Amino acid sequence: MDLLERLTQTSAVAGREHRLRQLILQETKGLFDETRVDNMGSLICVRKARPGKRPARSKKQDKPLRVMLAAHMDQIGFLVRHIDDSGFLRVQNVGGFDCRNLFARLVTVCTEKADLPGVMNPAGKPVHIASEEDKKRVPEIADLSIDLGLPPKEVQKRVKIGDMVTIKAPFTRVGDTVVAQAMDNRVACWVAIRAIQKLAAKKNGTHNCEIYCVFTVQEEVGCRGAGTASFGVEPDVAISLDTTLCVDTPGVPDDMRVTKQAQGAGLMVMDSSMISDVGLLEEFERLAKKHRIKHQRSVLGRGGNDGSTMQRAADGRKTFALVCPTRYIHTVTEMVHLDDLHACRDLLAVYLGQAG
Ligand SMILES: [Zn+2]
Repeated sequence: MDLLERLTQTSAVAGREHRLRQLILQETKGLFDETRVDNMGSLICVRKARPGKRPARSKKQDKPLRVMLAAHMDQIGFLVRHIDDSGFLRVQNVGGFDCRNLFARLVTVCTEKADLPGVMNPAGKPVHIASEEDKKRVPEIADLSIDLGLPPKEVQKRVKIGDMVTIKAPFTRVGDTVVAQAMDNRVACWVAIRAIQKLAAKKNGTHNCEIYCVFTVQEEVGCRGAGTASFGVEPDVAISLDTTLCVDTPGVPDDMRVTKQAQGAGLMVMDSSMISDVGLLEEFERLAKKHRIKHQRSVLGRGGNDGSTMQRAADGRKTFALVCPTRYIHTVTEMVHLDDLHACRDLLAVYLGQAG
């Protein structure tokens, strides 16, 4: 779990993914044959086919099946929008936060030279002197301000418009789960790395497909990096790796739970941005059954993932989304069950081991 901790504790708001890209490059040394960064900042890591005795598709069709994995690196967060005369910062959200979860937060303002701790609060009066009306109101992002505890001149010198801001939240083991912010989508970065490591560590280490493991940018603002990356990669098959809702929690009707915790890897049938290729859906399901890996089909009524732009790149791609059930998604206490995490890793490793 150390890797997942490092991944979740590295700030990478959409459009500011450079720190995570560096970390992933360090963590995957030796795993890939080639790495490159495309113009938008997505990290494209290639592991070439390593065919074994079984005749590879490469022999028959002169080039191996090209499988693109997409795991988005970015997280929801903020960019500094304004610095006022008293030294308070105002922020622009990047991606969809639930404002009901944004009271009294410690934050990190990532400036060019150093990371500054700060406190983020909605504008207005403390509870002692607030009116009944005030108390009921849920603040909007525009109401939030960040106090860095520094003189205004110092703030103006050190902070720039556009600097990234993230909430400070610990990585914690809670029962049989792990809880942190940005599980969406560091979970998928972890799943991709661990699945390919698992594949590489197999006795003969062979696989017939060519793996393009792409750590994409700007998913949270409309799956922007995955689309452009897939024009560059030109995959035969595209697999989006992401988290999905797991609302098997109080206050939500059972038919709206999307997935159930500890029931295994989510095989996404559809969300509002894409419909998975039915052949791939059935192939993943068959493999999960064969290898006794816990799995569940899921349908998400509203929400998107990188598969949406990969599927529609160029003349279209066969696309599927493998998703990890996550409770309290888009808060800083995103919770993932270890069984689900491991099921996603195992299923992806099995798929890659036999594709092509
Ligand atoms: Zn996501």
